[in-house]
Amino acid sequence: MNPVAMNDQERGEKLAERVVIVGAGHAGGTAAALLRQYGFEGSIVLAGEEPVAPYQRPPLSKAWLKGEADSESLLLRPVSFYPEHNIDLRLGVVATAIDRTAKTVTFKDGEALPYDRLILATGAGPRHLPVRGAELRRVLYLRTAADADALKAVLKRGRRLAVVGGGYVGLEVAASARALGCEVVVIEREARVLARVASKPLSAFFERYHAEKGVEIVLGAAVTGFRGENIVTGVALHGEVQACDVALVGIGAAPNIALARDAGLSCADGVVVDLEARTSDPDIFAIGDVTHRPLPLYDRAMRLESVPNALEQAKQAAAAISGHAPPAPEVPWFWSDQYDLKLQIAGAPFDADSLVIRGDPATNSFAVFHLAGNRLMAVEAVNAAAEFMGGRQLIGKRAEVDPAKLADTAIPMKQIAAG
Ligand code: FAD
Ligand code: NAP
Repeated sequence: MNPVAMNDQERGEKLAERVVIVGAGHAGGTAAALLRQYGFEGSIVLAGEEPVAPYQRPPLSKAWLKGEADSESLLLRPVSFYPEHNIDLRLGVVATAIDRTAKTVTFKDGEALPYDRLILATGAGPRHLPVRGAELRRVLYLRTAADADALKAVLKRGRRLAVVGGGYVGLEVAASARALGCEVVVIEREARVLARVASKPLSAFFERYHAEKGVEIVLGAAVTGFRGENIVTGVALHGEVQACDVALVGIGAAPNIALARDAGLSCADGVVVDLEARTSDPDIFAIGDVTHRPLPLYDRAMRLESVPNALEQAKQAAAAISGHAPPAPEVPWFWSDQYDLKLQIAGAPFDADSLVIRGDPATNSFAVFHLAGNRLMAVEAVNAAAEFMGGRQLIGKRAEVDPAKLADTAIPMKQIAAG
């Protein structure tokens, strides 16, 4: 794999004439639009399994679920955008195989599409819970607009929702379900919620906040099965059954790597790509949740599951294919909205050896900084936009900061970020 990013022109290759994008989600839809924005004039086929034009998933667990956003507002771009920009959007089609020698992608209906450059944007799918009763009605998952429709239809006032998994999906749906007047219990296997993605102080804060909003939280609990005849009536744990009318399973996502793996592309926890989103085959790119990507700031590679990551990699691939210089690497960031809380996270706490808390969690506005020595590696900010922005800048600059200054709310964050 080329460690220094070079676009196709610099590699001395003829610019592509036919681009096929498999997966019409956030990453694929953005890549198609960016190719046109960057002046790519060849053909673009954007092929996706779902029956809807590219849309945003974040509102599915938040505004949309609460009835505060309509389906139209979920779309990344109006449906008319695709024909207007000569993008051949094909919906409800599933790619089943890549022939790297013939440079074709075959679809379930037998059609084989030729490509000069292929972009895999197949995303991730919910991890399933293979326990007894998992097939009962109202045992649901949340990834697609269709999943969200099914969930919304059963989240009626007064019903009891059991959420399995205290990650982003679980906590966001718990907050939305409370707003809809449901009773909610969150069942988490780990000793704290958001264990995969957040620090202990942040987990403790969210546990308290959800409890104050009436959510019951059961930690360290292994689900052994679902109870019920046709419709779920309970979630069985070791030693107890949590009664429910609806169960939502949000226990993580697995990358859709089958196409790439079967085609012999290098895969780890995701399709391995470089900084221009190129896979081990130089004519095939991969972007978004499906990738295992380099994080130059941290000298590591990993899979990121977020909209900002999908957008960044869409830019990388579109730039390389259309002969533009690669975009500068970004500081990874994430957000989550729950109740009146805006959580924003920048960076990753690799090698961090100390935490600094700025502000008081009891005020519902504070930030947790993760330091390796004095270098800022990550910031988690709750209702603290200045701390998030300032922290993100400092992380990007690989800056060293004085922990005492970070903890001192009398010193404005802007001043600390300016160094
Ligand atoms: P996806 O959006 O999953 O798109 C992949 C598409 O490829 C899918 O439509 C799939 O059907 C299609 N596909 C797969 N295989 C094939 C095939 N063989 N042939 C054809 N099509 C195929 N991120 C944030 O940053 N902030 C948030 O607040 C946030 N909230 C979220 C809330 C929910 C409920 C969910 C589910 C996710 C949320 N995310 C959030 C994550 C974010 O939505 C993802 O990181 C983002 O959608 C990744 O984009 P993607 O294009 O890589 O994958
Ligand atoms: P997640 O954030 O990985 O959280 C899943 C949680 O479920 C983890 O804490 C996990 O613990 C726990 N878990 C796993 N197996 C379990 C079991 N058998 N019983 C109880 N708990 C169990 O994943 P998610 O919340 O399902 O989200 C799915 C995808 O959507 C991810 O890509 C996520 O990033 C994305 N998403 C993002 C946002 C956002 O960015 N705001 C919002 C919603 C969704 P372990 O760590 O032990 O596995």
